[in-house]
Amino acid sequence: MALDIVTIPCLKDNYAYLVKGAGGCCLIDAPEAGPILATLKSRGWRLDTLLITHHHHDHVGGVEALRAAYGCTVMGPQAEADKLPPLDRALQERDTIGEGEMLAEVIEVPGHTLGHVAFHFPAGPAVFTADSLMALGCGRVFEGTPEMMWESLSKLTALPPETVVYSGHDYTLANAKFARTIEPGNAELIARIDRTVSMRVRKLPTAQAPLSEELATNPFLRAGQPHIKQALGMADAPDAEVFAEIRARKDRF
Ligand code: ZN
Ligand code: FE
Repeated sequence: MALDIVTIPCLKDNYAYLVKGAGGCCLIDAPEAGPILATLKSRGWRLDTLLITHHHHDHVGGVEALRAAYGCTVMGPQAEADKLPPLDRALQERDTIGEGEMLAEVIEVPGHTLGHVAFHFPAGPAVFTADSLMALGCGRVFEGTPEMMWESLSKLTALPPETVVYSGHDYTLANAKFARTIEPGNAELIARIDRTVSMRVRKLPTAQAPLSEELATNPFLRAGQPHIKQALGMADAPDAEVFAEIRARKDRF
């Protein structure tokens, strides 16, 4: 049985994700309970495990209502345990959750927050990245440093390229406008922007794409490309510095 991954729009532009396999049902992030409870009910699923990526309210607002409804096991980053709802299990780098096709590995991806984690399901293959790596973008660096975020993104890009990246917000269209300023000549990027526009018109989610597509189009992952360094006047700068410059430009965009 292949994993069943369900995208649930929450709040204004957040996503929660349900992963259902032979070993049970797991949720990644709980922005608000209502849409998640409705999805579980309509599918006749019960929630076994709730995985939290980081402490921001738009990722944990629904945790207590879901715990009350299902008695699910709540897990999240140890490094943010003091800012999170009570954890049944605190997670660190390379911890694993579940087994068989429901096995997930914890990847620490600090930058947006200092304890942010991603969840990698090799059987998907899927990785849930919330506000670290995002479709055509990356999260704002609030608590860490750009160098830290670059390291975190580098861990994610080392996953198999067919891995589908599921991010925490649908910022893709806004990210696309910025991406075009960094690499206007990238034909794959332009084609992705066209697809994104037509998907948004049909109100389809656009924040889920294979890592191979992010590698080819996401400006934050392309800081090492010589023609981009050249265009930014940073031909000889290390990749992490070029990333920091791209992140700074996006913050001002
Ligand atoms: Zn956040
Ligand atoms: Fe967020």
